[in-house]
Amino acid sequence: MANTAAEDTDPADDFPAIQLDVVIVGAGFAGLYAAKQLGRSGVDVLLLDQNNYHQFQPLLYQAATTQIAISTVARPLRGILHRQREHVTIRTARVASVDAAAKSVTTDDGLTYRGRILVLATGSEPNFFDTPGARELAYPLYSVDDATSLSSAMLGALERAAATRDAAERRGTFAVVVVGAGPNGVETAGAIAENIKFVVSEYYSDEFASAQCEVHLVDMVDTVLPPFSERSQKYTRRSLEELGVRIHLGRAVSSVSTSGVALEDGTELPAAIVIWTAGLKASGLLEPAGLTTGRGGRVDVEPDLTAPGLPDVYVLGDAANITDAKGRALPQLGSVAKQSGTWAADNICADLQGRERKPFRFRDMGVMAMVGRGHAIAEMGPRRFQIQGMLAFLAWLGVHLVLLSGWSQRAAALVSWFRDYLTRRRTQVVVHQPDEYARARRQGPTEPAATPTTESTTSTTTGPGGATPGERSQS
Ligand SMILES: Cc1cc2nc3c(=O)[nH]c(=O)nc-3n(C[C@H](O)[C@H](O)[C@H](O)COP(=O)(O)OP(=O)(O)OC[C@H]3O[C@@H](n4cnc5c(N)ncnc54)[C@H](O)[C@@H]3O)c2cc1C
Repeated sequence: MANTAAEDTDPADDFPAIQLDVVIVGAGFAGLYAAKQLGRSGVDVLLLDQNNYHQFQPLLYQAATTQIAISTVARPLRGILHRQREHVTIRTARVASVDAAAKSVTTDDGLTYRGRILVLATGSEPNFFDTPGARELAYPLYSVDDATSLSSAMLGALERAAATRDAAERRGTFAVVVVGAGPNGVETAGAIAENIKFVVSEYYSDEFASAQCEVHLVDMVDTVLPPFSERSQKYTRRSLEELGVRIHLGRAVSSVSTSGVALEDGTELPAAIVIWTAGLKASGLLEPAGLTTGRGGRVDVEPDLTAPGLPDVYVLGDAANITDAKGRALPQLGSVAKQSGTWAADNICADLQGRERKPFRFRDMGVMAMVGRGHAIAEMGPRRFQIQGMLAFLAWLGVHLVLLSGWSQRAAALVSWFRDYLTRRRTQVVVHQPDEYARARRQGPTEPAATPTTESTTSTTTGPGGATPGERSQS
């Protein structure tokens, strides 16, 4: 397709839109793979993202817990799409609004882009379910910014805990509560517990690690990893407990405060850091765009991945409710996003070549989660062949190495994992966001909320202190 970028001369427009062949919003797995495939096929594409990089969400928790460097999970888009640069134009800009019927998007610098075909792949954002205090005080973990904030805040909270002089006040001064026992929460809780066991004990002292550091995992459902088999769930729970994670299941969080979290049964879990992995919803751009949204604020797409009634508007990845050939809802996974991106690109090419579009077919590769070094679970393929322990851990490492974008990122991850395994030293222990770090260090003693039960051993005279990002703006 020829490059047709031109100003639209519609006299009704106060500000003429820039007219293009395909406009893609979002360079996550879905948008990126759509752009790659279209670029390879010679279709001209404008790819818009608020960041100039693609973020690899599955390893964000490792960046937040200093296991790998931030540069391993964020790769520049211009590097990834270098070979397609003749056909793929990249713009770094935040899309402020979308008009689905007009197939146009407006960026926050006031420019409007109109595509003959519009692809929306804006991903998810955290869902705090209106839990009081959660949006303002808890740390989400869905972006590179989230990972750098959390990492700096945890380092600051650790420093503060280490500076506690009074022996009576020391217990539990570095307590972390992870809300949500899905794969993201399990992997994060396991990584922090492992850090406490191996890295904090080495960098600070054994006594500090065992007396002052705690990790809690909370979920309102009564199991960890609900989408996995019972066998995998049991293994995961046992592995987390062996690492020292305290698990609270079947108990919803009723509020988050500067003291920690309160559970619905009245229990108070004091915490220096609260991490929120409990829910996702689609980007807030979709509903005002004139699209009908369903479960999770996502668009219930047609089998060809377009929005109902809008045959030239594709909605992909986490932004869509996509079903498999049997009509079952597919989960919000990187594999679904990636495959939907490539499939949509093929359907766009089919239109251009006068062929018929095909209904999306998902190739199910299975699911896996890492619980700690040497401990993982994997349920492979559509038949969910199960493996656990060291074999699953090695499979997890291999799969994530392959999925990571870029040879230097793969090499960096491999070196970090090996060094970590052999030496337990971390070169990545650096503060990326000094404000978060300083706030976590500065935070003075807080009065714990008056609640009937206190499960943690944290001193009630000082409160947990630590990172309370009260004034922090939510990403
Ligand atoms: C911590 C974590 C761990 C995960 N682990 C796994 C795993 O192990 N395996 C797995 O299969 N899946 C995993 N997932 C899920 C997987 O990462 C997502 O399903 C996948 O990233 C969705 O891809 P997407 O392209 O739809 O959205 P995203 O990858 O979220 O990309 C959306 C893009 O849109 C951009 N964007 C959003 N709004 C705007 C705007 N207004 N203007 C401009 N740009 C915008 C964003 O910057 C982003 O680049 C994990 C997710 C998280 C958060």
